[in-house]
Amino acid sequence: MNNKIIAFLSIFFLILNLTSCRKTRTEYLKDDLFALDTYITFSVIEGDRAKEGIDATKKRIREIEERMSAHLPGSDISKINDNAGKQPVKVNPDTFFVIKKALEYAELTNGSFDISLLPVSRLWNINGENPRVPSPEEIEKALAVVDYKKIRLNEEEMTVFLEDEGMAIDLGGIAKGYAGDETVRILKEHGVTSGLVNLGGNIVAVNGKEDGSPWRIGIQNPRIDEDKNKRKHVAVLDTRGDAIVTSGDYERYMVEHYEKTGERYHHIFDPETGYPAKNGVISVSIITKNAIDADALSTSLFVMGVEEGLKLANELEGVEAMIVAEDKSIYLSKGLKDAVSGIHPDYKVVN
Ligand code: ADP
Ligand code: MG
Repeated sequence: MNNKIIAFLSIFFLILNLTSCRKTRTEYLKDDLFALDTYITFSVIEGDRAKEGIDATKKRIREIEERMSAHLPGSDISKINDNAGKQPVKVNPDTFFVIKKALEYAELTNGSFDISLLPVSRLWNINGENPRVPSPEEIEKALAVVDYKKIRLNEEEMTVFLEDEGMAIDLGGIAKGYAGDETVRILKEHGVTSGLVNLGGNIVAVNGKEDGSPWRIGIQNPRIDEDKNKRKHVAVLDTRGDAIVTSGDYERYMVEHYEKTGERYHHIFDPETGYPAKNGVISVSIITKNAIDADALSTSLFVMGVEEGLKLANELEGVEAMIVAEDKSIYLSKGLKDAVSGIHPDYKVVN
């Protein structure tokens, strides 16, 4: 064979190979980002504007962070906190929307979800470099300015006012959910038909997988460190577009203190006590349409505990919950009864 024919044939087979690849294997674009204090991963079906969609989403997530972070000096939240007891602050409509949602969940949960907890969480500094156990006096003093009922919203003026000096709010329990909903909206606007984005335990999906099957989401084993088989997941939940958001006591906690004392001081606080919630719950996953609701509810149910938490989930339309308790019991809301698989052999569904 002469060289030309060989060259032609190899190109021919190369093209054949590429086209057959495309038919059999679905390509997902991968990307990631560190924002909102967490690691965010994207997996989005290839399409003309998929890359553009991911870039637009990343930009939007950074914008949400710039507005809603409690530690960036120029953010809406910092301005609100700096003006506590002084004057109302005009904010972006998205910040207003998220605070309004947060207050709805505060009402719904009788204050188990309370964004005005920042004076308490600052004392503990669990998310920071030097966490510590505050004295009961310090906690009592900080609790005196915790009260979501003193957050005043003015929809017409788009302002937020904290009535008492010393008050401060933090959207750490809800902003990632909002960012998740914005992610799905923007990806869809860019023609994305299938995708999965994980914002540090807040999982959002654009539809199911390309072939129509659901995404199978492994829920993190909350006690993987103590598991001799190191099984990664406690259970598997399926989604074709719902958000799945998990809150746990294993993500951020005082490791050294835990190793010394066996007491796990983590980052979800009980507004009644000013201490990390301690009611036997170690992980809560919420499945619902919008991630903002799932995020607020996962934190809320963690504080409320098994009984009250399950009751609320069962009362709410379109909301499902999986609660994992310290004694390795798993509690499921009514609609999840047959929807959970891959349960860790050490755990047991008990209701
Ligand atoms: P993660 O941020 O790890 O996904 P969550 O969504 O449960 O977990 O949010 C925990 C964060 O929410 C804390 O770091 C803190 O900023 C805030 N937070 C803690 N306790 C409460 C509470 N009872 N109500 C509202 N926000 C809370
Ligand atoms: Mg949350």
